[in-house]
Amino acid sequence: SKPNIAFIGLGNMGAPMAENLLKAGYTLSVFDLSDAATQRLEKAGARVAQSPKDAASNVQVVISMLPAGQHVHSVYLGDSGANGLLAELPKGTLVIDSSTIAAADARTVADAASQLGIDFLDAPVSGGTGGAIAGSLTFIVGGDDDAFAKAEPILAVMGKNIFHAGEHGAGQVAKICNNMLLGILMAGTAEAINLGVKNGLDPKVLSDIMLQSSGRNWTLEVYNPYPQVMENVPSSNGYQGGFMSKLMQKDLNLAMQTAKDTHVDTPMGAKATELYATHALENGDKDFSSIMGRHDASVLF
Ligand code: NAD
Repeated sequence: SKPNIAFIGLGNMGAPMAENLLKAGYTLSVFDLSDAATQRLEKAGARVAQSPKDAASNVQVVISMLPAGQHVHSVYLGDSGANGLLAELPKGTLVIDSSTIAAADARTVADAASQLGIDFLDAPVSGGTGGAIAGSLTFIVGGDDDAFAKAEPILAVMGKNIFHAGEHGAGQVAKICNNMLLGILMAGTAEAINLGVKNGLDPKVLSDIMLQSSGRNWTLEVYNPYPQVMENVPSSNGYQGGFMSKLMQKDLNLAMQTAKDTHVDTPMGAKATELYATHALENGDKDFSSIMGRHDASVLF
């Protein structure tokens, strides 16, 4: 029989992920600070709760998809460190956090959970909003084998590839390595397209050429940053939705902090971090492919 699930955080990613659980027949209670976000899920058949605690009453599994570490800390441990959701959950509850946060923060929540007899997994995702809608995300999980085994059938509803990266925090480490590379690839792809356009090439023709050549990468395959080269991507929709530049900036900062703490050299990551820090000053809420506007400001309007 299917466990009841509480889903907390219904933004660009959380909403379609929760909708896929509903479609698969799970009973869902949901919470988000934004009414627009909860209304969408209410229409899809979820019970809208008034707090994380309310959402988690009478469930066996809690899933969260929140912006950053501070929000995860605040929901699970509370702002004063004592009034969080963990303290309200029965022993044996499975908690899956799919937000991208620092590995150290994930381990802090995992330790607090374990002292209460609660299973915690860090389970960040890759695949973008397209992958969230299609149910084809990649889940990158850190935590114990038993908890992973319990989570797997639920994650399989929202994702296609489910990796057990290692112990608590390992999912987050793998995720920020991936996103550091994605930040480099997106900034580099925008730069290459701009060089071609400024030298007389059509952005679609150039993109098709690079897609069949050695510069091929995920951004060219499914997330072209130049407007109107592809349909149904943020660049063709005013850079709305998708993965906000301020979230890419957060992930690059997490990668840089990890590199610094462990004395690892990441010069390309450092450059991408610098580019996104500048870009996000004015474009933090736009999708991260809007880094294209660094070269051609007209695409931003
Ligand atoms: P988002 O900002 O669209 O959604 C976050 C949601 O959390 C919002 O609806 C917000 O109202 C809600 N929220 C914030 N604080 C809350 C709280 N205390 N209680 C309840 N709800 C709260 O962000 P997103 O794009 O959905 O990303 C979520 C996480 O997933 C981030 O860590 C991001 O880095 C990661 N991620 C995003 C993508 C992507 O393509 N968008 C891809 C992979 C991973």
